[in-house]
Amino acid sequence: MVGESEQEVVVTFRDRAASVAKNGLRRWIYAAKPKGKFYQYRSALSFFYLLVFFALPLIQLNGMPFFMLNFPEGKFIVFGNIFWPQDFFIFAVAMITFIIFIALFTVIYGRLFCGWVCPQTVFMEMVFRKIEWWIEGSPNQQKKNNNGELTAGQAIKKTIKHIAFLILSFLIANTFLAYIISFDSLIKIIKEPVEEHTILLTGLVFFTLLFYAVYAFVRDIVCTTICPYGRLQGVLFDKDTMQIAYDYNRGEPRGKLNKQTERKIGDCIDCTKCVQVCPTGIDIRNGVQIECVGCTACIDACNEVMKRIHLPTGLIRYASENEIAQKKKFHFNGRMKAYTALLTVLTIVMSILVITRKNVDTHITRVKGQLYQEVGNDSLSNLFDAKVLNKTRNEFNVEMKLEDLAGEVKMVNTKETMLKQESVNELTFFICINRKEIHKRSTDIKVGIYKNGKKIQTVTTVFLGPFI
Ligand code: SF4
Ligand code: SF4
Repeated sequence: MVGESEQEVVVTFRDRAASVAKNGLRRWIYAAKPKGKFYQYRSALSFFYLLVFFALPLIQLNGMPFFMLNFPEGKFIVFGNIFWPQDFFIFAVAMITFIIFIALFTVIYGRLFCGWVCPQTVFMEMVFRKIEWWIEGSPNQQKKNNNGELTAGQAIKKTIKHIAFLILSFLIANTFLAYIISFDSLIKIIKEPVEEHTILLTGLVFFTLLFYAVYAFVRDIVCTTICPYGRLQGVLFDKDTMQIAYDYNRGEPRGKLNKQTERKIGDCIDCTKCVQVCPTGIDIRNGVQIECVGCTACIDACNEVMKRIHLPTGLIRYASENEIAQKKKFHFNGRMKAYTALLTVLTIVMSILVITRKNVDTHITRVKGQLYQEVGNDSLSNLFDAKVLNKTRNEFNVEMKLEDLAGEVKMVNTKETMLKQESVNELTFFICINRKEIHKRSTDIKVGIYKNGKKIQTVTTVFLGPFI
């Protein structure tokens, strides 16, 4: 910042968190109701987001949840595909992809995630805050009421609000539980005696109270102090990171609007509308601050002011520090393109891994300690064990066939084998191969796994023959 403006900004800059009062106590933030283009977009996105959040556990595909993350049992269903601990490598890749994604995304787009899709922001600003406005009145009204004597009417309203918050928190906790144990299991435990599910119910009560405490009391402190992602921003931002920024070159030196005289100072009329709407209580004109959750409320507020005084909008806007300093408009620079391309590639790789993941996973090993056996005059056989993991919720038959070589698979008991649902099936079988096909002690052979005549997997194993 430059000249007079620098002096003013330094003088007015705060020396403590926005949520802390001079006496060290919590400063409750009564953010004004935002309105404007960005708030409308965020509201629409939140509506869709909440719809998906509450509806997803209810969706079933082929009799099983469409989405379930059962961490205690290590069982995960993503878009109808069951993932087992055996699919751990996909989760490992997903975790690495996720971490790289977070880092790159934040370097490019700053706190876009926080403002638009973080559950804390969406539930706080689009659900709980709106309920509060609806019951207790506008932020100004609330401030006035809370600073005065508590009347009977206000006490009733507060009680209703807290009951509503508790019910909603209970609903959110139940939805989270449905994501973990599935909606059907949730309904089942609701119907069963309480004493049979004390651990789950204790968890449910704990998370209900946790959500209630977060949305009723902790609020902006989650974003400004507790959230590790928020804390990480400081090391991921640089001067090219897109963020919600005040154009100090255009706005400073700020000064009140005087319609009688020609304006020779900056465009900021110091109306503080941008500060009043900020849910974390900061003044974005002091520069990028760790408390900014990128909610866009200040953009909307300032744009409205600019329109009213017939100045161009965008005094506060999405821009990088370099763009503000060099007086350039936001543009998608080379680094952003490269990172976005990398993120796209990572997402595609992850999607391919998920889509091509097998529902039946077979491992075949020769029975330890067994050599080859001679079968008749012209064939050799080896005894094999197979572990066939059926990840689906259906039972079905599989058949094994020798690929490439002349020979056959002889199950010890039967030709076809029934695989039990969601379990590891153990099979024992002989593979008989014509002697002429065996030219060395160890031969790699391929075994095809067939379901309804269709090959679903090819497994390579080793066939042991005589020394030649
Ligand atoms: S500074 Fe603006 S974008 Fe950041 S939290 Fe406050 S109102 Fe939201
Ligand atoms: S809303 Fe715009 S004009 Fe008003 S104080 Fe904030 S930056 Fe300045």
